[in-house]
Amino acid sequence: MAARRTAGKGTGFTAEQRELLATARDAAGRAYAPYSGFRVGAAVLAADGRVFTGCNVENASYGLTLCAERAALARAVAEGAGEIAGVAVACPDAAPGPDGRLPEGAAAPCGACRQWLAELAPRAWVVTTSFLVPRSVGDLLPVCFDSPGV
Ligand SMILES: [Zn+2]
Repeated sequence: MAARRTAGKGTGFTAEQRELLATARDAAGRAYAPYSGFRVGAAVLAADGRVFTGCNVENASYGLTLCAERAALARAVAEGAGEIAGVAVACPDAAPGPDGRLPEGAAAPCGACRQWLAELAPRAWVVTTSFLVPRSVGDLLPVCFDSPGV
């Protein structure tokens, strides 16, 4: 069952996507998650080849917690990444379901992160430790908030 817990290996992911997922797993090791114990790592691949990582950073005031995906995307923006080609998310603490497999949503980006992805990485592929195949941001958030007047 251990191999199934790390979906992404031997699935429909490319070597580049598996490598980015490994980078996200490394980033999860630096998570600050003393309250939930649920570590998350993210890695953002810029079109120019640079990779930016992030991890979840929790807070005693729970609502202030920052997700790994948004941490990585903010880092990419701060470093002038420009176009984002891909995003990987790893949740090493996600628990498998009764069938021993991770539910597909176990490492899926939350709604807030999907909105960030829609704005900052609209053409990126997204892979996670629970996805069996790469997803597009449009798959994850088909109708995002996008008000031209704002
Ligand atoms: Zn999130």
